[in-house]
Amino acid sequence: MARKPFIAGNWKMNKTIDEGIALVNELKILVGDVADVDVAVCPTFVALAKVGDAIKGSNIMLGGQDTFWKESGAWTRQIAPSMLKDAGCQWVIVGHSETRGRFGTVDAELESVLSYFGESDTTVNMKAKAAFAAGMTPIIACGELLAEREAGQTDQVIVGQMKIDLAGFTKEQAMKMVIAYEPVWAIGTGKVCDSDEADRVCGLIRGVVKDMYGADVADAVRIQYGGSVKPDNAVELLGKPNIDGALVGGAALKSNDFAAIIKAAK
Ligand code: PEP
Repeated sequence: MARKPFIAGNWKMNKTIDEGIALVNELKILVGDVADVDVAVCPTFVALAKVGDAIKGSNIMLGGQDTFWKESGAWTRQIAPSMLKDAGCQWVIVGHSETRGRFGTVDAELESVLSYFGESDTTVNMKAKAAFAAGMTPIIACGELLAEREAGQTDQVIVGQMKIDLAGFTKEQAMKMVIAYEPVWAIGTGKVCDSDEADRVCGLIRGVVKDMYGADVADAVRIQYGGSVKPDNAVELLGKPNIDGALVGGAALKSNDFAAIIKAAK
């Protein structure tokens, strides 16, 4: 089955509202005529509504960078799925390695403590289900730490994450979900994963989806690669059979770079 490529830009904690509007206005000119690739931007929460207004009627979609799974209540700092939907989001990233609970850990910069992030695969799964319930589609991120890769545990870690992160969806939801394979050591480091290896792990993920939801879902589900995707490595990565798009951080902040990655997916 031909899967439509999907390129999503995760702006992280970058761009003021005006800067975000300026960026999408440039993108509209650069990729406004691209119909065969799905494109989304994920601004900060405070910029969502205004950036959403700026892309109305264009081929660029809006996504949140995270969500809480509760719908309302005394949850200071949290954002409910319905609030993201209300702001115009069709997509929401869940389980990004940077939201898996870094804060509150003393040696927060040490890679060795990343596995103690407060967010578990169970909460990632709850967020994904809440996103579906609110009418959005989750982009479910997974990935191994450098220490896990070096210990030969990559496959075990990814399969373990996926089995919990993807549990309990309806078949229709599973068809729609997007998975982002993001090796943690490749995010924001400039160290891109070898394209054959990224393809292999994305194939491994597709195999887990097949075991959980059947061959038709595995064939339809889109799996992005994320981790230092740039214009000069995008063609090779996106040309691999199991890689259906990219979740892009740093390179999504410059319109020309992001547009070049989108065009590489065509
Ligand atoms: C990301 O934030 O998901 C990401 C992949 O970042 P970068 O492209 O900067 O590595």
